[in-house]
Amino acid sequence: MPTRKKFVAGNWKMNTTLAEAKALGAAVAKGVGTDTNVTVAVCPPFPWLVPVGEAIKGSAVALGAQDVHYEKKGAFTGEVSPAMLLEAGCKYAIVGHSERRHILGESETAINHKVHTALEEGLSVILCMGETLAERERNLQERVFQRQVFAACAGLTDEQFQRLVIAYEPVWAIGTGKVATPEQAQEAHAFVRTKLRQLYGDKIADTTPILYGGSVTPETTAGLMSKPDVDGALVGGASLKADSFVAIVKAAGG
Ligand code: PEP
Repeated sequence: MPTRKKFVAGNWKMNTTLAEAKALGAAVAKGVGTDTNVTVAVCPPFPWLVPVGEAIKGSAVALGAQDVHYEKKGAFTGEVSPAMLLEAGCKYAIVGHSERRHILGESETAINHKVHTALEEGLSVILCMGETLAERERNLQERVFQRQVFAACAGLTDEQFQRLVIAYEPVWAIGTGKVATPEQAQEAHAFVRTKLRQLYGDKIADTTPILYGGSVTPETTAGLMSKPDVDGALVGGASLKADSFVAIVKAAGG
């Protein structure tokens, strides 16, 4: 049975002032410390990446961005390249978050392009996928998982897969307080892992972390993490309070 290190990432979305971001980063760094059995990252808004990077320096907490552009440089007003994120201290970039897919109309082609460019340039990618409520009500979720994973990962090398983390985030659970049950999460993760096995082989299926995201709280973490294919959590709302985020990290660590 392969063992995968648990991974907890906080997605701060478009929240925090500069002062709040620095204080939150410092409190998370203090709470997590330097010695943890969990991989931990925080993803502040772009303008706060460098100051939050300073605030978490010396701790086990890594820095991530909430998005990245699919070209390396050039005339793309308002966009941020992988090289800029690396220079700002990021190790990770979230790609394909449902708010970008559904509110900002990000296409699967763009997501695949982003995944490629980010990995080529040296970032690790947290790839989000998951079904809407309407898709679940029509029992289409497995079709959606297969399509989204296949579209996003097309053309990746084995080496690039080693820097890919998948986050299953059912859209109906994000920011709604309706967390998936551990059984629902396990069923989805097991399906995604089986698809990875069929498409890319045992090594990739066994080593790719699959996180759950959607209204995770300190109270729901242990139950979710007890499932064999749930390798961690992508946390939105509960990552904005250091105490609750650190409690999620500790619960994920067991
Ligand atoms: C998210 O947006 O990635 C997320 C999981 O949000 P929340 O935890 O607030 O549902």
